Amino acid sequence: MLEKLLIICCYFDYHPRTRLVDVKIGFGPSGKIEKVECMICKKVYIRDNKTINPTIVLLVILLFVIVMLLF
Ligand SMILES: [Zn+2]
Repeated sequence: MLEKLLIICCYFDYHPRTRLVDVKIGFGPSGKIEKVECMICKKVYIRDNKTINPTIVLLVILLFVIVMLLF
């Protein structure tokens, strides 16, 4: 059940379980670029440490509340 919930998070482009694949030193203010692989949906993407989308966080909290109410 938890796995399904995590897949929903992935659908909203929030990957809760990631594994570091590669680190590249970027140029300018971007700093280092971390390439990570999602352990749930196996998607490989560039992790952006600076921006945490508050909408996604809110959505995830909402999802957990729904799950808590169901069980
Ligand atoms: Zn994912």
